[in-house]
Amino acid sequence: MTTKPSSEKFTEILGLILGALVVSVFATAQQVVVFGEVKLAGYVIPVFIGSVSGFFIAKWFAKLSTAKKEIQNSHERLKLVLEGSGIGLWDWYPHTDQVNFNKEWCKQLGYALDEIEPHFNTWKNLVHPDDLAQCSVDIQNHIDGKTELYQNIHRMQHKDGHWVFILARGQIIERDNNGKPFRFTGTHNDITHLKEVEHNLEESNQKLKQLSLVDGLTGLHNRRAMNERLIQEWGHWKREKNPVSILLIDVDFFKKFNDNYGHLKGDACLKQIAQILEHNAKRTNDIAVRFGGEEFLIILAGTTRSEALIIAENIHNDITRLAIPHKDSEVGNLVTVSIGVNGCDDTQDCPSFNSIIEGADIALYKAKESGRHKTCLYNA
Ligand code: GH3
Ligand code: MG
Ligand code: MG
Repeated sequence: MTTKPSSEKFTEILGLILGALVVSVFATAQQVVVFGEVKLAGYVIPVFIGSVSGFFIAKWFAKLSTAKKEIQNSHERLKLVLEGSGIGLWDWYPHTDQVNFNKEWCKQLGYALDEIEPHFNTWKNLVHPDDLAQCSVDIQNHIDGKTELYQNIHRMQHKDGHWVFILARGQIIERDNNGKPFRFTGTHNDITHLKEVEHNLEESNQKLKQLSLVDGLTGLHNRRAMNERLIQEWGHWKREKNPVSILLIDVDFFKKFNDNYGHLKGDACLKQIAQILEHNAKRTNDIAVRFGGEEFLIILAGTTRSEALIIAENIHNDITRLAIPHKDSEVGNLVTVSIGVNGCDDTQDCPSFNSIIEGADIALYKAKESGRHKTCLYNA
């Protein structure tokens, strides 16, 4: 329940008295009005009417002034809330291009209110040139009634030169008789910190994605990356008859290497071999993959099986040049590899991308069986 302010009560009583006084001055005191037996002086009725109407007029004035004060108070409160919340306000009159900005609007861009001219060009000149066209489209769409709300994220130049990301929202709140916008009002929010968070998140996601496709020990691609690329290249073969070949590479007698030199030396050896393979996967779409354990795979895009055999030969030579000692190897005293080759070209179709690997695996087995440190071609 709301109580009447004392100033309102006071005005009502004052109105009552004043009404009575004013009317009684004009009343005819001489006349007597008779109601049956009752005789009343002529001024009683006008005084009564005067008091009542004075009372109500005063009451109306009191209510009006209370309402005015309440509006003023809530306006003040709203202003304080907006200032505290950091929301910038703009109030644009398109027919004159006058724009009233609030203190917060200016503060977001490093200016004081008296440094900012209340004109549309003030905003326009501070917007990033690359963002202005989209702003204009969004404003026009709202003017044309295509959107219920104008909304746009754009960059604006701060007084000290850096760019601030602004989320602008607004609405036409008054149109003239011809339907043209008369008053367009809205807010500005500085969302630079949110944009930074978004940017960092995107970067982290990118890094995570890269990490999820890379083998931790050697830095080569992992099997997930291999599957993606092989499906892609097999698709090129199916659609455009663009050849693709793979090399499946396995280190010879690596268990003995570990037993002899220790697991850490084994890891170092795998890293050295990985570098050789990376070096031989030269073309843009070629990739070298750690297939698992001491097994590797190279996808050679746009390469026929006979061309792949040449690359396999280069790999053997490069690994021999590394000259990593392996005294317990049964094919010599250095680390060697065996390679199985398969692919899709004029000499060999591939019903599925898996069939390419299966063929290379059979060829690798053959290379191992026939003495190791050699290359075999599937279905040769
Ligand atoms: P083969 O010539 O028939 O390929 O003989 P192999 O000894 O190389 O083959 P086998 O499959 O018997 O042994 C593979 C060895 O590779 C066993 C395992 O300890 C080693 N190995 C697998 N992954 C790693 C690794 O990440 N680091 C090290 N140091 N050794 C590994
Ligand atoms: Mg193996
Ligand atoms: Mg092996």
